[in-house]
Amino acid sequence: MSTKSVLGEVREVQLAIQLIHLGARLQFLEAEVGLSRERLIRLYKEIKGVSPPKGLLPFSTDWYMTWLANIHSSMFYNMYQFMKTHSDEEKVWVLIKSYKLYLQQIEAQESEPILDFTRAYTMVRFFDSDMLQLSTCCRCAGQFVAHAHDHKSGYVCVLCRPPSRAGKARGSKRAAGGEISVPGMESIGLAVEAALDGGGLH
Ligand SMILES: [Zn+2]
Repeated sequence: MSTKSVLGEVREVQLAIQLIHLGARLQFLEAEVGLSRERLIRLYKEIKGVSPPKGLLPFSTDWYMTWLANIHSSMFYNMYQFMKTHSDEEKVWVLIKSYKLYLQQIEAQESEPILDFTRAYTMVRFFDSDMLQLSTCCRCAGQFVAHAHDHKSGYVCVLCRPPSRAGKARGSKRAAGGEISVPGMESIGLAVEAALDGGGLH
């Protein structure tokens, strides 16, 4: 993207600021924002007060299949897909807005976000490269993130068939947030509808 015009550059800086606030990694910033690496690092330090963390982007689809991650990922991807269909904005802005909407919904349900921005972005790439798909649960009819090319018929989602440990795993491996309430399918559906009706698109 050209950064030669002043307005174009302002737009790039605004994009970078949004992404840094959401927790985007440096690799992502470099891929999506037309500013030099040096400027991105400087911006990052100014906003966060620390250097950007090093480390690779996630590369496996397995994380999205664990039950709690799958609930959050499915909720996010349903929102993202709706916004992508109904908005003519650039993809990166659709991603930013859907992710903010996800955070709002999680906050409204007094839960902790499980899907960080990097995971959300990586998931969208997995969908784009046909490694993930949405499968429809044959019991609740909700659409959930699943491995691509899995059999679609007879699919039962993680909410309709939670693992037995789901209710009690407290703070064990889930370092992120101690006790986490899991919204039922009904409330996720309502939340997505409310968010989409409620003008999440502007
Ligand atoms: Zn289900």
